[in-house]
Amino acid sequence: MAKDTRLAIAVPCFNEQDLIKPTTERLLEVLFELEKKEKISDSSYIYLVDDGSVDDTWLEIAKAVARHPNKIKAIKFSSNFGNQKALLAGMLGANKIGCSAVVTIDADLQQDESKIEEFVDKYDEGYRIVFGIRNDRKTDDWFKKTSALAFYKLMNILGVKIPKNHSDYRLVSHEVLNVLEKFEETDLFLRGFFHEIGFTTTNVYFDVKPRKVGRSKFNLISLTALAVNGITSYSIVPLKLICVLGIFCMIFGFSMGLWAIFAKLFYNDSPDGWATSIILTSFFGGIEIFCVGIVGEYLGQVFREVKRRPRYLIEDELL
Ligand code: UDP
Ligand code: MG
Repeated sequence: MAKDTRLAIAVPCFNEQDLIKPTTERLLEVLFELEKKEKISDSSYIYLVDDGSVDDTWLEIAKAVARHPNKIKAIKFSSNFGNQKALLAGMLGANKIGCSAVVTIDADLQQDESKIEEFVDKYDEGYRIVFGIRNDRKTDDWFKKTSALAFYKLMNILGVKIPKNHSDYRLVSHEVLNVLEKFEETDLFLRGFFHEIGFTTTNVYFDVKPRKVGRSKFNLISLTALAVNGITSYSIVPLKLICVLGIFCMIFGFSMGLWAIFAKLFYNDSPDGWATSIILTSFFGGIEIFCVGIVGEYLGQVFREVKRRPRYLIEDELL
């Protein structure tokens, strides 16, 4: 029992007007329950981040804050900076206000919020990062299941270690938040980051619930962007692969050249060669463009990082 644990629950919200009320009421219930059990202090709170919603999310958030001024705090981004930035702002914002630990959870509470108690228990046992791991992917459609699986496989091959079936439902302690403050890269891939920095970590397993209201904000493009960012910010294996590929292509091209000379000299059998050259040109052209594309992704990372622009802009806050 550690009733001086000040817990913050950070929630990214993008166009979630219908969920703000039920979600905050439910999370307050969770907090009160834990306070009653003396597992957390009564100064614990919810920290909402409105990621530039275009519906009435901020209005609903303001109402929630008015109902529970000591328990709910909120900031509003000036535009949509994406879920990773909203999560980051939630964690850093809570650290600024002060907390022993912060749990991040989605506004739709698809991640079983009743497990927050287990997160806190693990924190009390001395764990500094607790990853929420989903038991299965029943609620995902075929596309999400397959793409997630392919993503973990690819990340593994590329040497980026991320916990499997972990979305951004996790607890991190204030010591870890202080470390997070020091990482100022623009495109921080949170799952990679928390897995890489060490600290005493453990897992909590939970079942995913279907989304009750609204629809998922992620689609093929945003999921691909997240995956590419995860790869380019944590692995340079693709760049190394390009080198290896280049060497193979060189050997192949060189052998083809030798073969052509050999055929010409000894058999005087120089074929028309039209089909061969078309095939070879498009094959190597394809590889080349693909490789330039990979290099381009990394260049894009560097480009975004060197400018050191703010990661998000806050338009309004209710703290
Ligand atoms: N979200 C966000 N910014 C975005 C997209 C999503 O803050 O640009 C939030 C969203 O409000 C939710 C969480 O990120 O709290 C996860 O989004 P969603 O439930 O749509 O994703 P899924 O469950 O399909 O992975
Ligand atoms: Mg969801």
